[in-house]
Amino acid sequence: MATVKRTPKVVIIGAGVAGITTAVTLQKAGFHDFLVLEKGGDVGGVWYWNHYPGLTCDVPSSLYQFSFAPNPDWSHIFAPGSEIQRYMSDVADKFNLRAHTRFDAEVVAANYTESGWHVTTADGTEYNADFVIAATGVLHHPSMPDIEGLESFEGDVVHTARWDDSLNTRGRRIAVIGTGSTGVQVVSALQREAARITHFVRTAQWVVWAPTGMPQLPLTGAVLRRLPRVNRAVYDTLLWGSGFLADITTKPTWRRRAVQGAVRASLRVQVRDRELREQLTPDYEPFCKRQVVSGSYYRAIRASNAELVNSKIERITPTGIVTADGRHHDVDLLIFATGFKAHNYMRPMNLRGRDGLSIDDAWDKGPRAYCMSAIPGFPNFFTVLGPNSPTASISLQYSSEVTARYIARWLERFRDGEISTVEVTEEATTRFNDGVADALGPTVWNTGCNSWYLTEGGTVDLWPYDRATLTRMLSKPDDRDYHLT
Ligand code: NAP
Repeated sequence: MATVKRTPKVVIIGAGVAGITTAVTLQKAGFHDFLVLEKGGDVGGVWYWNHYPGLTCDVPSSLYQFSFAPNPDWSHIFAPGSEIQRYMSDVADKFNLRAHTRFDAEVVAANYTESGWHVTTADGTEYNADFVIAATGVLHHPSMPDIEGLESFEGDVVHTARWDDSLNTRGRRIAVIGTGSTGVQVVSALQREAARITHFVRTAQWVVWAPTGMPQLPLTGAVLRRLPRVNRAVYDTLLWGSGFLADITTKPTWRRRAVQGAVRASLRVQVRDRELREQLTPDYEPFCKRQVVSGSYYRAIRASNAELVNSKIERITPTGIVTADGRHHDVDLLIFATGFKAHNYMRPMNLRGRDGLSIDDAWDKGPRAYCMSAIPGFPNFFTVLGPNSPTASISLQYSSEVTARYIARWLERFRDGEISTVEVTEEATTRFNDGVADALGPTVWNTGCNSWYLTEGGTVDLWPYDRATLTRMLSKPDDRDYHLT
């Protein structure tokens, strides 16, 4: 007797890089009954939420794109954030994703019962689904330090990830707290117009020089648009070239040491002032933290209206910041570039799997998933760019696409009536995570620095393998690793 085909009903949570990729991949695989629930007012994820001055993607734009939406037209080699957001929006239009998306729809709960998934948004609407895919991203919840006296500050206060576009920055005394990729970009952007800019640096960062302000060569876009195969070859070459980053970050070879030597030399060449150079010199290896890339930061921080302060912040006063050396720094605008709670993933959502298991209980020792995408106790639930997603060395778009195709294989089997539920086993997840822990041993991220890559338990929440391994691991689901009904 022929099997009756079923149409899986899918809820995708989030319309950023991972959500867009998932939606398009499902469409291409013939699945159209999906709904994207997005907390923000538009697609884009980090590119929707972040619009601070100086926001530029520090990955070349030709690489920072979806394989299914090649775009040769970038104004710069490293495109500004607004341009990337426009690209994401164009992709959503091109693939008609808005018709499948509810905006301003924050998911507050998702519960699994025998009848499937029940997803609730903040306005109380409930959606039912056979599968839920969390594409909720890593860098979403801003981390705001609790510094004594902050509430007494009389000037403006802003976190970069929730930038207020009406803020005046020109001619003001600006303090920037935090020296990750964001802090470095903000200081570079605001220094010229500020009356004074003070960069509060708790831990110095290595900064790799790159032509981050360089325009794309004239006619490049026009030529590549006429030659899609060449455009594809450029993308493939860059993808392949990014393997070098995976190599130096995961293997302690002479290649890693050579690149680290170049980063150290770059600081010596660009900053001749010995005292400032000492302040800028980290006490850990280059690439241990998420590498900061900038072609303008050292110039900005050397300027006469700029100052780098290493002394610990003691407290905030109505008019500025007091540091441990007793100085009071007068400030009108206080900018927190203090990063994100990177290991929250879909939380604080009340996510409950089989038998009411909550994600907080499942992850009481930290986030874990099988191949970044499946969690024991959570049937018919997957993550895209979930735990251990390769934020350090492999294109996020690439790994999202590979993961989404992997999930589509399960949807095909559901459609064909082969399975009704799929849930990864505890054994497979433990085996995968043990392998990851071993592989993380020799990585540069494990060489003794503090970074957002580390979970509260001190483990590195990254992908420690190369792209080929990622592709292989996610090429075809292995039934032995799953409970199927
Ligand atoms: P981050 O890398 O986590 O840096 C946060 C900074 O805030 C660190 O310098 C940290 O110091 C400092 N900080 C935190 N709490 C503090 C406190 N209480 N007092 C003083 N300093 C404090 O965050 P981010 O710069 O926003 O970057 C996060 C990630 O976003 C990046 O690594 C990158 O992956 C992504 N990003 C990408 C781009 C791009 O162009 N593609 C741009 C921006 C961001 P410690 O080091 O001492 O903890």
